[in-house]
Amino acid sequence: MAAACIFCKIIKGEIPSMKLFESDKTLAFLDINPLSYGHSLIIPKHHGAKLTDIPDDSLLEILQVTKKLAAASGVENYNILQNNGRAAHQEVDHVHFHMIPKPNQEEGLGISWPMK
Ligand code: 5GP
Repeated sequence: MAAACIFCKIIKGEIPSMKLFESDKTLAFLDINPLSYGHSLIIPKHHGAKLTDIPDDSLLEILQVTKKLAAASGVENYNILQNNGRAAHQEVDHVHFHMIPKPNQEEGLGISWPMK
């Protein structure tokens, strides 16, 4: 944990968030400034700024959770994104994966969260 890190504060419950999934290694919650309905962030509880700071087993679980969240969003189209470094538009220095649903009109908004 890093004292000044906003995502560590979310993990500790010091900053409120809309949680979608939690395990001992991983937390998923809604992005505060969503690019689409259901835009979520999936993060390791282990603090690390860059992808290379995160243990492989944690990254594996993050991808598994991201895949389940994408399925639970009820849409077939989505972006999974990890900005790594300032020049790549990383603003929060705690590794996070974005899952950004891209619903079309036919799919609607069949969100069934929080994910079990
Ligand atoms: P980045 O540009 O670092 O990849 O994205 C950081 C993301 O974190 C942004 O989409 C931003 O909206 C989100 N974010 C920043 N602060 C908070 C917060 O306090 N709560 C939540 N839920 N999301 C946040």
